[in-house]
Amino acid sequence: GLGKVREKEGFFGRLRSLLAGKKEIDPSIVEQIEEVLLTSDVGVKTTEELLRDIRESLGRKELDDEGKVWDALRAQAARILRIQGGGGLRFTNSPTVVMVVGVNGVGKTTTIGKLATQLKNDGKTVVLAAGDTFRAAAVQQLAVWGKRVGCEVVRGKDGANPGAVIFDAIQRAKEIGADVVLADTAGRLHTKTNLMDELTKVARTMTKALDGAPHETLLVLDATNGQNALQQAAMFKEVLPLTGIVLTKLDGTAKGGVILGIAAEHGVPVRYIGIGERAEDLREFEVDEFVEAMLG
Ligand code: GDP
Repeated sequence: GLGKVREKEGFFGRLRSLLAGKKEIDPSIVEQIEEVLLTSDVGVKTTEELLRDIRESLGRKELDDEGKVWDALRAQAARILRIQGGGGLRFTNSPTVVMVVGVNGVGKTTTIGKLATQLKNDGKTVVLAAGDTFRAAAVQQLAVWGKRVGCEVVRGKDGANPGAVIFDAIQRAKEIGADVVLADTAGRLHTKTNLMDELTKVARTMTKALDGAPHETLLVLDATNGQNALQQAAMFKEVLPLTGIVLTKLDGTAKGGVILGIAAEHGVPVRYIGIGERAEDLREFEVDEFVEAMLG
């Protein structure tokens, strides 16, 4: 602990740092914090920033106080995550059009199914748009969710234009007075430029179908992807005005910390977390709960 470190540093070392006006967190506390943050995949950059923020926010004496330092860390993490617009969906329009994006396998289709279930339970009318037209399996999977939830699924023929399918879904939602359109999109990543161009086109088509659409653009990220999720967020944010993130598969990992890095670097709020494969395994994101789970 502290005693040992002090001993090692020696009297002159301590005197030097006092004279230099250096403000340092006790090294053994830094070590613990780094271990927890890096294990949960917060990432080196954000970890360093958090430590710097703690140094700046606490007085010299408090930096040796383990309890105070951890409190400051929790507060700082919560501040970063508490970006305006967190929590669930905002229904700003009828229909509210939600574009759901993310690379293959992160849980887009499942998240749409879960969301549709919740919305239906809340008494809302939902239309699903099977916009991942490149994968027959994705269209099929969405159709299964539609049947299970009891909502319409608009789908095109095999290889149909994704924009056209989503356009039709929005028209259909207007016709039947639906509250929400949840639009699935492609996520195959063999060429990044193609995917991003296509998603930009799809978003433009949505605006043509309904002024102001998409009202929400949710990026789905897989918590088990670690720092790759950070790169994905950067890539999608470059081309789409993301309004929120859904962090899936938190049930299978202790690594959800990457979301802290994403919030810090990109300022996009987390709206939902996925904690399993079943319809009910989607929760609105709660900052304090999350920070508690990550930092104890
Ligand atoms: P998509 O390619 O992005 O549409 O991904 P899918 O929705 O097909 O999901 C890929 C796999 O991840 C499926 O086996 C899902 O059941 C699973 N999955 C999705 N969300 C979660 C989650 O929150 N927890 C767990 N454990 N599995 C999930």
